[in-house]
Amino acid sequence: MPLVLPLAVLLIQALLMGLMPADIPTIAYLAMVIVPVLSGVCVLLRAYREAKHARSGWLLLAFAIFIWTGGAAANLWHEWVLGRQNDMYREAMLAFHLSAVPLLLLIATPWRAGWSEPIRWVDAGLSLALGVSYFLLTWQSLTARGAPDEASVAVMVWLVDAQNLFVAAGAVVRWRAAQERAERDLFTAVATHSVVYMVLAGLNNHWVAAQGPEISSAITVAFALLMTLALRPAGPMMLSQVPLRVVLMVRSLSPVMIAGALLGVSLVLVPFDYPAGVVGVLVSVLGYALRNTLAQASTLANGELLRREHDALQSVAFTDALTGVANRHWLDRSLNEAWRRALRERHSMSVLMIDIDHFKLLNDRYGHTTGDHCLREVAEALSSALVRPGDHLVRYGGEEFLAILEDADANGALVVAERMRQAVAALRLEHMDSASGLLSVSIGVASAMAVSGRAPITLVEAADKALYDAKCQGRDRVIVAAGAGSADTKQA
Ligand code: GH3
Ligand code: MG
Ligand code: MG
Repeated sequence: MPLVLPLAVLLIQALLMGLMPADIPTIAYLAMVIVPVLSGVCVLLRAYREAKHARSGWLLLAFAIFIWTGGAAANLWHEWVLGRQNDMYREAMLAFHLSAVPLLLLIATPWRAGWSEPIRWVDAGLSLALGVSYFLLTWQSLTARGAPDEASVAVMVWLVDAQNLFVAAGAVVRWRAAQERAERDLFTAVATHSVVYMVLAGLNNHWVAAQGPEISSAITVAFALLMTLALRPAGPMMLSQVPLRVVLMVRSLSPVMIAGALLGVSLVLVPFDYPAGVVGVLVSVLGYALRNTLAQASTLANGELLRREHDALQSVAFTDALTGVANRHWLDRSLNEAWRRALRERHSMSVLMIDIDHFKLLNDRYGHTTGDHCLREVAEALSSALVRPGDHLVRYGGEEFLAILEDADANGALVVAERMRQAVAALRLEHMDSASGLLSVSIGVASAMAVSGRAPITLVEAADKALYDAKCQGRDRVIVAAGAGSADTKQA
């Protein structure tokens, strides 16, 4: 189907021309209406097969084709109904120029922007202004000296070439920078069509226009090609391999291109059509400023949104899901930082290693759900014992917690540890397999003056060792490590 329909259409066109030589001009003008209409319908069908964000691109392409068809229909009307001969008609020229507007918009506007976004409407306004001012320029240069003469036609042809080249180059660049499957499919169609159209229109305008419509109508090939590309199944999923640098450059350049082209065209237009030229200059400058402001605002908003999402993700990544306190991952990142702060401010730092006593037995007797509940309660009780901003509680693993006290010597840390032990005891959680019949914790404390050359992990190891001593000495107690900056070992 993607190949049969366009080939059949072209074949019928050629056959009819061959069979009815007397009617060649009529057939040619009819073909230049019928083939684009068919290709426009194929593009519409494709639009409705695509997801919403890709649909509007195909719809813009269809819109461009139907405007072009309007120009071809105007030619048909003048030549066939009014019986004029191979002339240039204002409304047809206007339609051909305006058909570039949706394509310019397609090239300039961000791929995933919605129609509710003001940036799209500024792009649409700039594209429309460019299409109109280019038409005015072309028409003025054609009629500036009265009826079109050979020299003015030559100028016009070059102007048309330049416009076609502008659209084709823009489409190829967007195709090259396509980031996803739907974007690539659309810009493959737009780029192929506009390049072939540019070549055929260029050949026709420079060399064969004078020979009559039968050869001009070869332009239908560009539309038949579009049918094929629109009817083709969706391309394979792709992971973008385009360097980010290219994508970003295209993204920032494509809108500038339209405003810049409008400025250039309007400046050239000023001597021919002063009001239109001045309006064009103003529109280009204001449009560019407005677009930049909108883009800047949306970049800032996106940045803020990203920052918030990043913060939210980070807080999830650094939080223990069960107890809500910081997790091991946070500790790995923060222990050295805390040590460096203590070093800078010449503090002594303390680490408390806290372990629930006989927790395995509690799980065995009461079940894991009760165990989890106890873990949450204990975490809350331990947190409540930390009151200073430099104090942090971490779930170290299983039923072990670790507290960092950024500015506490052994005496201060002992007070905090004892407060923690008592806070857990005050929960009065039943534990029939412990000596007191209540849930308890053992705590090992290690403190040291922060000194460079010593890793904070040694403090953690010393606290762990003190915890082991607390377990050995009967649990439900606090032991301060010997050494590690403090001389004494105490039992609460
Ligand atoms: P000790 O007094 O010597 O510390 O004895 P213990 O039973 O507390 O120590 P042990 O290391 O033998 O057992 C720790 C238990 O903690 C084993 C495991 O079932 C339990 N545990 C670890 N993480 C979780 C958890 O997230 N939820 C629950 N319910 N239990 C956990
Ligand atoms: Mg334990
Ligand atoms: Mg343990």
